[in-house]
Amino acid sequence: MHPTLPPVFDGHNDVLTRLLPHGPAAAAARFAQGGEGAINLPNARAGGFGGGFFAIWIASPSDPAVKFDQMTRASYDMPLPEPVPFEAARRSAEDEIAVLEALEAAGSLAICRSVAEIRAAMAAEKIAAIFHIEGAEAIGPDLAELDGYHARGLRSLGPVWSRPTIFGHGVPFRYPSSPDTGPGLTGAGERLVRRCNELKIMIDLSHLNAAGVADWRGFPTRRWSRAIRTPMRSARTAAT
Ligand SMILES: [Zn+2]
Repeated sequence: MHPTLPPVFDGHNDVLTRLLPHGPAAAAARFAQGGEGAINLPNARAGGFGGGFFAIWIASPSDPAVKFDQMTRASYDMPLPEPVPFEAARRSAEDEIAVLEALEAAGSLAICRSVAEIRAAMAAEKIAAIFHIEGAEAIGPDLAELDGYHARGLRSLGPVWSRPTIFGHGVPFRYPSSPDTGPGLTGAGERLVRRCNELKIMIDLSHLNAAGVADWRGFPTRRWSRAIRTPMRSARTAAT
């Protein structure tokens, strides 16, 4: 850890997606040795990176690359990729979670399940990783997978990554644009948010459209007690 600066705790990273093509064992080695342009262990230590949200993200089979170059233009309007079928998404998520777990097994980071575990990891100068899902394509309508991911450490979830899911609708990659672009959370989306609150999985509002955010905001006052409202308030904004 950097000797003088306070540690950085990052709101979102995509290093697992970048490491995914290498497979878990080679990914863990590359992370430890510093072979990647994104976050890696030597650079994290040198730069005082204490930890953050490590995203599991499913690439679109029909449109795998995120077109960042187009998003540097003065204005743009890109069509959203097709929804990803559940079984393909589930397999892809498993592969990416295997990378996260390989990094932990190699001793590069700790998957933290509580604030106490984050503090303990940072005190031990180990990267404190929060297992995050960016777009819930790998969860079916009965939410069975959600409990499984939670047991493996999932503590933060965004219902959509702009692409529509069975849970809701995201904003398109369009600028300028209002975020009010379509319908909000579906019935399955409402069940997902409710179950996340029971499990104390933080809801990430990034990419959700205005109606989805409004639906989320309506939950606590409409249906839930103050005690349940609190973890929902800690949602993040703005990430890719
Ligand atoms: Zn991301």
